[in-house]
Amino acid sequence: MGINIAIDGPSGAGKSTLSRKLAERLNYIYVDTGALYRTVGLYILRKKIDPSDVEKVEAALPEIEVSLRYINGEQYVYLNGEDVSSDIRIHEVSQYASLVSAVPAVRRFLFETQRRLAEEHDVIMDGRDIGTVVLPDAEVKIFLTASAEVRAQRRYNELLERGQQVSYKQVLADVCRRDEQDMNRSVAPLKPAEDSVIVDTSDCSFDESLALLYQTVQERLRRP
Ligand code: C5P
Repeated sequence: MGINIAIDGPSGAGKSTLSRKLAERLNYIYVDTGALYRTVGLYILRKKIDPSDVEKVEAALPEIEVSLRYINGEQYVYLNGEDVSSDIRIHEVSQYASLVSAVPAVRRFLFETQRRLAEEHDVIMDGRDIGTVVLPDAEVKIFLTASAEVRAQRRYNELLERGQQVSYKQVLADVCRRDEQDMNRSVAPLKPAEDSVIVDTSDCSFDESLALLYQTVQERLRRP
């Protein structure tokens, strides 16, 4: 087993950008588990399956092969051999990912991929249930959060940069809806692990958040 750092939190808290930077600094592999759920969501969207129809989503799983590859520290995700790393970032896929991630069979389906990576490498893994379910023995667990407005603003800026046409209001509504879904599902709901450190970045710049995270990780790793 490598050294495992779990970073959980709601969407838009800055998990992926911060985790990527932190991984670079520590020379760990950064595993973005949201990409796995997004890939399943993308398949369901392409097949025009209702993402809330648990039976249909479950029945589609044998048709799906999701794999990750790392090239120069960058994660690429493949759906049945096709590189979908950019397609999964489409705004519509977020909602599909959130809905399919509430299906227990989907979580079971993606569990092994996540565990295997953590066994084989030193990882910083970000998601919703990493500290609670996937890596309960992680050396460091962080719950990264920020207010819904701040998170929506960050997500909005990110989508604009990607050239997507959305309004801030729509993004805020989506952030709140996804929080609601992710926190209230019966399987692996989003919540801080008991032994996690809660880091709120509402009032922090990116560099300040990174410094705070780095310091938290170093302190935790030094503990016997
Ligand atoms: O992190 P990201 O926004 O890309 O995740 C997309 C969706 O996938 C989330 O809204 C959440 O519902 C789901 N997810 C999850 N468990 C994880 C990672 C993501 O349920 N470990």
